[in-house]
Amino acid sequence: MLSPSTRAFLAQPIAGWVNGSAVIGRSTIARDIVDPSTGNTTAQVFDFGLEQVSEAVTAADRCFRQQTWRGLSGQERAARLREVAANIERTSQTLAELESLNGGKPFNGPAQGEVAAAALTFRYFADLAEKSFDSEFTPTLGGPGLRGRVIAQPVGVVAQIVPWNGPLVMAAWKVAPALAAGCSIVLKPSELTPLSTSFFGQLLRDSGIPAGAVNVVIGDGGTVGANLTQDPRVSKLAFTGSTTTGKRLAAQAGPLLQRVTLELGGKSPVIVFDDANITDAVSGAADAIFGNAGQVCVAGSRLYVQEGIFEDFRSRLLSWTQNIQVGPAFSPDTQMGPLISAEHRTRVHAFVEEAVRAGATRVCGGEIPEGAGFFYPPTILTNVPEGVAAATEEIFGPVLVMESFSAAEDALARANRSDYGLAGSVWTADSARAEEIARALECGIVWINAHGIPDPAMPIGGVKQSGIGRELGEIGLQSYLEFKSVMTRTAV
Ligand code: NAD
Repeated sequence: MLSPSTRAFLAQPIAGWVNGSAVIGRSTIARDIVDPSTGNTTAQVFDFGLEQVSEAVTAADRCFRQQTWRGLSGQERAARLREVAANIERTSQTLAELESLNGGKPFNGPAQGEVAAAALTFRYFADLAEKSFDSEFTPTLGGPGLRGRVIAQPVGVVAQIVPWNGPLVMAAWKVAPALAAGCSIVLKPSELTPLSTSFFGQLLRDSGIPAGAVNVVIGDGGTVGANLTQDPRVSKLAFTGSTTTGKRLAAQAGPLLQRVTLELGGKSPVIVFDDANITDAVSGAADAIFGNAGQVCVAGSRLYVQEGIFEDFRSRLLSWTQNIQVGPAFSPDTQMGPLISAEHRTRVHAFVEEAVRAGATRVCGGEIPEGAGFFYPPTILTNVPEGVAAATEEIFGPVLVMESFSAAEDALARANRSDYGLAGSVWTADSARAEEIARALECGIVWINAHGIPDPAMPIGGVKQSGIGRELGEIGLQSYLEFKSVMTRTAV
């Protein structure tokens, strides 16, 4: 049962936000927003027309030029970011309900992890908004009396595009550092999950973020997203999504010389040595792939277990997996919700079917259940032949490919034999070995005896086909800054 405030929000038209005002898209065709737990339509939205996308960029550009946001002191910006955090906490029941309704995430009450993480992200970047990233240097050429400074300034208008698998927290990961840096923003949620972002647009306005500093456009990627990102007034693209779309955006950004941060797909390895705490490693490996039904960029979708413990590990993991309660987001017993859409479930299932046809062993799962909702069971595959897509491509669903390995070099070679390089984890009691593996893994994030824990202070992003640049942490904020060098002759 949704709370009265969530029902009141859903009773209104789902709006984007331009220059501080709610704006309904001018598209004549309504887009159904579907609850993946039931397949029922919960809301309808209208995509922005292209002139409305342009108006959103105009509002951001005007805010930037008139300095209504970036002209505030760091302390003032920090105060408003803290107000955003407080308002996320104040409205956490509705935000959590919208995330569960729209994305199928198991509902755990207002303290739901991603809502709390969004608030924490604003607090973290509020602290950084108060910090100066300017620096000084002493010139060594050009004679005496010279003083050198580097001034950090916001990059300008930023287009931020987020996917459907964590609409609120990913918006927070993008908006908070960009606002801390003084940028103006046009944010586009996925066409599948606009609900919490629409709510968030109002929350930002009510928190004292000035008109035009954050605009929200509603619509699909191919038209609304493409027009937003190709607007020459946009200085930087911050994108989270698939590698295919990321490459398209990078190619488009080239001629405009837009700065890009691309957080793309992954096929992250989990390496378990025979000296690991097996109980922790089993639950850790299961959470790594079955959390959010595998619809997580850092999902541990390739599991490598050392041969001495492989059989024991496999049977423990199987019993753990068979106990995972798959069900509707709002059922209190649910541990794993549905996939985002029927179309996505078909795609996930095709990977499994192809692997099984090629000779893989289905340890569990792998069948589409009867009934409403886009559920898919937690699935484990072994003996997947080399080169089969389930072992190499990002499935973005609850499908684990499990293999054994002999020695550390063997595990490392297999872990690194991937086009992707987003994340990985190593499970062992030997800290020297863990450190060695952490350094040798070709990826942007490594956890040791853990997997998938984010933090606002921890930069995230990938190498190889997993992206360019980092989000979060001080580095994440600096990606929204330009550094201007100023050299002054102080004495002649
Ligand atoms: P997607 O690339 O299809 O879409 C992502 C966003 O881009 C959506 O908002 C979409 O509307 C927009 N988009 C699509 N085409 C566009 C275009 N031509 N121009 C501008 N915008 C466009 O990805 P998805 O299916 O929504 O999300 C799942 C993917 O996101 C997975 O591959 C996953 O790995 C990745 N992801 C990565 C991270 C990370 O941090 N690296 C985090 C979450 C998700």
